[in-house]
Amino acid sequence: MSSTPPRIGFVSLGCPKALVDSERILTRLRAEGYDVVGTYEDANLVVVNTCGFIDDAIHESLEAIGEAVARNGKVIVTGCLGARPETITDRHPSVLKVTGAHAYEEVVAAVHEQLPPLHDPFVDLVPPQGIRLTPRHYAYLKISEGCNHRCTFCIIPSMRGDLASRPIGEVMLEAERLVKAGVKELLVISQDTSAYGSDLRYATGFWGGKPVKARFADLARSLGSLGAWVRLHYVYPYPHVDEVIPLMAEGKVLPYLDIPFQHGSPRVLKLMKRPAHAENTLERIRRWRETCPDLTLRSTFIVGFPGETDADFDLLLDWLREARLDRVGCFKYSPVEGAAANALPDPVPEALKQERLDRFMRLAASISADKLAAKVGRRMQVLVDHVDADGAVARSAADAPEIDGIVRIAKPGRKLNAGDWAHVDIVGADAYDLQARMVRG
Ligand code: SF4
Repeated sequence: MSSTPPRIGFVSLGCPKALVDSERILTRLRAEGYDVVGTYEDANLVVVNTCGFIDDAIHESLEAIGEAVARNGKVIVTGCLGARPETITDRHPSVLKVTGAHAYEEVVAAVHEQLPPLHDPFVDLVPPQGIRLTPRHYAYLKISEGCNHRCTFCIIPSMRGDLASRPIGEVMLEAERLVKAGVKELLVISQDTSAYGSDLRYATGFWGGKPVKARFADLARSLGSLGAWVRLHYVYPYPHVDEVIPLMAEGKVLPYLDIPFQHGSPRVLKLMKRPAHAENTLERIRRWRETCPDLTLRSTFIVGFPGETDADFDLLLDWLREARLDRVGCFKYSPVEGAAANALPDPVPEALKQERLDRFMRLAASISADKLAAKVGRRMQVLVDHVDADGAVARSAADAPEIDGIVRIAKPGRKLNAGDWAHVDIVGADAYDLQARMVRG
């Protein structure tokens, strides 16, 4: 047997959830003695983790597979697009194996088959926190897979199945290890974070010798005790979400909620079959802000959903004017193969979708600019993401990595590194980002 470790190339596409899958597969492969290399040419085999959510992502995934095939030749494909293997094999018949999302065992088995591991039971190559593709100072923490909802524009449940929550003890152990390894910010992700544990009937687990229930609020409280920033993504506005707002007001969990509202018109939300579509979200937001005035709300929306009328769109604009969300992303509706919404009548013409998108984003940008301008003069703690010739790029409690704005610190005056905390005074703002000066002394 050769003593050189087998070398794997890894391409990770798609959303933060896919990134977590990649990290798990890599952790496992590293544990078995595989080397992870950075170029196609150095690898004995390439694994491509794909995304298949919208047409653009499918296209990007197919291109990436094509590049790996051309430059390396030995390719295994996993991830969301793997749920439709023929889409891949029709275009790239030489792919060695296709597995679906979260099929960790299958991917690893396929790697073993094509490139057997070096057996070395005496060497533990994996640090206890696993291998992470994200920078050392923040990490995604995946608490469940799948989803029990059936939103008509979405095919995730058909790809990933129903909600399957990880036991709370396991989640907490992973979070604790990450923090011990230097992670300063935990980003909690899943398809439906607020539903955490419902499939387990909120089973009690153990962490630190104490019983903890697999419930959204208990999870948030336990994570909040670790001393890292805890940011909650993909939360729906269910009544029980109210329970985490006091934790935010007390500073245990970041005052930040990422809630994909998708629309403001009850009729469209019903057509979309959105979770909590019957809730009075404006009233809920008002009460949350009463408890926690610093709460940052991020959301995504879809305009041009089939059947969306001018009146629905106006309702959406009114909703946003009142909700005054801090961070907003918006997409034009585009049909996804296999989604129930494709069968809905009254598609919105492309030009009208674009016009609505532009109007919506103009309003969102002006709200964001107002809200950021109101922060000028405030002092805040930020986390440095990277340092360049112009100074440092950091984030405040209101900014999730990759998707939100930044806090730029010009001439910090002392050496800053990625992962450092800093205290800054906000001295300027534009529509999405803040400029800051280090607090001296
Ligand atoms: S909540 Fe809706 S959009 Fe989100 S994963 Fe579930 S079905 Fe898809």
